[in-house]
Amino acid sequence: MKIALTGTPGTGKSTVARLVDAGFTVVDVNAIIKDTYNQGVDEERNSAIADLDGLSRYVEQLPGDCILEGHVAHLLPVDRIVVLRASPVVLRKRLEARGWSAEKIEENLEAEALDVILVEALEMSDNVYEIDTTDKTPTMVAGCVREIISGTDNYKPGSVDFSEAYFL
Ligand code: ADP
Repeated sequence: MKIALTGTPGTGKSTVARLVDAGFTVVDVNAIIKDTYNQGVDEERNSAIADLDGLSRYVEQLPGDCILEGHVAHLLPVDRIVVLRASPVVLRKRLEARGWSAEKIEENLEAEALDVILVEALEMSDNVYEIDTTDKTPTMVAGCVREIISGTDNYKPGSVDFSEAYFL
């Protein structure tokens, strides 16, 4: 089974992916894009432009159970998509700690408040799950991901709404 663990930067993807275990290999999607499957660099964002076709072919031939972790993982051929969410208040602190510019932070907080990644995920798959990590430790979130792997009906999208927390 292949699981995409996606979400706005800072929602905890890489931290949580390492804690899930359950025999799943963690694939760092951003590292693979940077090393191999890119179409150059987006100078403005200082990040590699993903070659999604090449990356998708790479993912299709991966053996065994994998967690594909990264903010474009939901655009890849996977069986389930898990979107990590975090309140813009929490997210702001985490992105400030990265030393990101105010502009880049606002761009990402707005995307989180507008459910951008969730909406993209729902356009890609019917098997989308959403975890509000705001009041959970990484270990708790990893437990939620294991429940999703086991086939729970919980964590269906729709209960998270950060628009008031950000826009009002
Ligand atoms: P991402 O991979 O989504 O960009 P990270 O896993 O790098 O996010 O996490 C960003 C920061 O937030 C790290 O310092 C991490 O320790 C912290 N963090 C992640 N998830 C949680 C959580 N559920 N509770 C508290 N801190 C968290």
